[in-house]
Amino acid sequence: MVWEERWHPLREEWVIVAAHRQNRPWSGETLEHDNEPRPEYLPDCYLCPGNLRVSGQRNDDYSSTFVFDNDHPSVGLDAPQSLSRPPGIFQNRPARGIARVVCYSPNHSLALAELAVSEIEELLRVWQEQYRELGKRDDIEHVLIFENKGEAVGVSNPHPHCQIYATNFVFKTIETEARAGERHRRETGRILFQDVLRSEREDGRRIICENDNTVAFLPYFARYAYEVFIAPKATHPSIATLSTVELRDFAALLRQVLIKFDNLWRMPFPYVMPLHQAPTDGGDYGGFHFHIEFHPPLRRPNLLKYLAGPEIGGGNFLSDTAPEEKAAELRELPDTHYKHTVQDKQ
Ligand SMILES: [Zn+2]
Ligand SMILES: [Zn+2]
Repeated sequence: MVWEERWHPLREEWVIVAAHRQNRPWSGETLEHDNEPRPEYLPDCYLCPGNLRVSGQRNDDYSSTFVFDNDHPSVGLDAPQSLSRPPGIFQNRPARGIARVVCYSPNHSLALAELAVSEIEELLRVWQEQYRELGKRDDIEHVLIFENKGEAVGVSNPHPHCQIYATNFVFKTIETEARAGERHRRETGRILFQDVLRSEREDGRRIICENDNTVAFLPYFARYAYEVFIAPKATHPSIATLSTVELRDFAALLRQVLIKFDNLWRMPFPYVMPLHQAPTDGGDYGGFHFHIEFHPPLRRPNLLKYLAGPEIGGGNFLSDTAPEEKAAELRELPDTHYKHTVQDKQ
């Protein structure tokens, strides 16, 4: 049983771990999941190859990945430029940026977990290109790449895809992580994330899996029951500088983690998956260590972790589970996907 507060060094905030609450009675809403097989192509899916989108644009007849500008962008180059000044202390500015969608595969029925390592590697290369291309623009300060997966996080179209928000500001969490890393480097001469990795390896109980160049772990300071970080062992401010070998290892480990997630309850595992990469605003981010974070909303099958008083009301997380137990659970799961829909063509 764990009942304590743990410091999150990247976000610079406390997490309350109250694992003794894990099995408290629950009479609230549960979530249904459909495990029904899906068709490989849907005529009315706006992400399937060759289909017409709401903007009137037609998707390429793509055969691997496909990138296009979001038809409903939250930030855009054509966002209104002349805004009326708000009164008093309030501030506003144009919602400038570029929003894109990246389809992982032409196959509507697959999830990232079901792609071959080579296909995931190809996707990582697309992420590298997008970060480089968007990040070098003067009007873009940060490139946020993320996947929302599952109805539990509000995704209605299961076609495997992620989104990119390239913005004229740096997202808050990244700003905090960058600042924390910079201060740590100034004070100790070391990379903060490397110190996290070293501490995780010394302890060992929360390491999920690793290979030559990549490690996956459920951090000591995890806020969600099945929160997992995947990171290259060497420090890279973004995915853009990973070598071919590092990229291959990263793809293999990402796939391994995703398969474990799906195998956990033998159902598609919902998550929010952001890439945490250095801002592209021209600052010095040598101390920033690229990583992927998984924020899965479920803590038991069909049971959502609700964000309520502590999280939404106060801004700090209350975790009902012990990271050590959840990491052990994931570590022991098989590395072959329960559906076996894609042959392991590694
Ligand atoms: Zn589709
Ligand atoms: Zn992070």
